[in-house]
Amino acid sequence: RAKDAGRGVYHAYEPELHVQAEERRVLEMALRQALERGEMHLHYQPVVDAATGSLTGFEALLRWHSPQFGDVSPAKFIPLSEEARLIQPIGEWVLRTACAEAARWPSHVRVAVNVSADQLQNPGFVTVVTSALADSGLSVERLELEVTESVFMHEGLGATKVLERILDLGVRLSLDDFGTGYSSLGYLSRTRFSSIKIDRSFVQSASRGVKEAIAIIRAVVALAQSLGMATTAEGVETEAEHRMVQDLGCTKVQGFYFGRPLPVEEARAVAGRRWDSDVAA
Ligand code: C2E
Ligand code: MG
Ligand code: MG
Ligand code: MG
Repeated sequence: RAKDAGRGVYHAYEPELHVQAEERRVLEMALRQALERGEMHLHYQPVVDAATGSLTGFEALLRWHSPQFGDVSPAKFIPLSEEARLIQPIGEWVLRTACAEAARWPSHVRVAVNVSADQLQNPGFVTVVTSALADSGLSVERLELEVTESVFMHEGLGATKVLERILDLGVRLSLDDFGTGYSSLGYLSRTRFSSIKIDRSFVQSASRGVKEAIAIIRAVVALAQSLGMATTAEGVETEAEHRMVQDLGCTKVQGFYFGRPLPVEEARAVAGRRWDSDVAA
């Protein structure tokens, strides 16, 4: 660490560290007020049935437009929210907003909401879910929560109990970014996931002809099938990729080819119109 090192080293390293820490501090301050100032909103990305091309739902994706910093990527502000212990209020707002919006869509259209591992450490999260459903009037089977493998890494037991109680409500659960973390087959068999989301990196590699990626997708699809779970291919950007993941047996697809994450009004329009005729024909 720069501080422990000799004088010259300290001076060589310090400015950069200072800038990083300063940037974080200022971002975090802005983030603390972002919700109450109405700087956050959700975009909704279509999720489509791989075989028929019809819309099955949308994934809610959080956006932060800061007057000071402009659009900040979730890849940056989500981890920061987790470290700053802001993810619980932010996550609750996301869930309530997404449920309220989904209640306006046709009743076959589901909504998927990303949930951080930290949110599942709080037993109160079960009440957050039930009250988001009650207040929005959204029926429980239309809500899907997405968690990543990281949930099972730290303090797995507490989170597992919360997950069980949420599953008992009838909420669907999917395993996001599968294959990118420390994948373990143990929790796949112990947890009642409705679907496994195959990370974009596998889809991209497979579409470049990487044999190992193709083999992994095939294996995940077979595993999911035998466990009674669906598979969603993430990051499908071209027609060729759609055909490839369809041939590999993925049941659902999501990606720029079917639609980017859309502002609320556009998603509402897409939800309300016939989908299978004009896309992915
Ligand atoms: P994720 O849950 O895996 O979401 C999918 C990400 O892939 C989104 O990035 C989406 O815009 C992007 N994507 C979708 N289709 C394509 C494609 O065809 N090509 C490419 N290149 N990218 C595609 P985004 O919106 O930047 O979100 C990044 C991550 O931030 C999400 O990954 C999720 O882990 C996290 N995140 C977003 N919103 C929330 C939230 O409300 N709560 C929590 N806890 N995490 C969130
Ligand atoms: Mg997700
Ligand atoms: Mg994902
Ligand atoms: Mg991802």
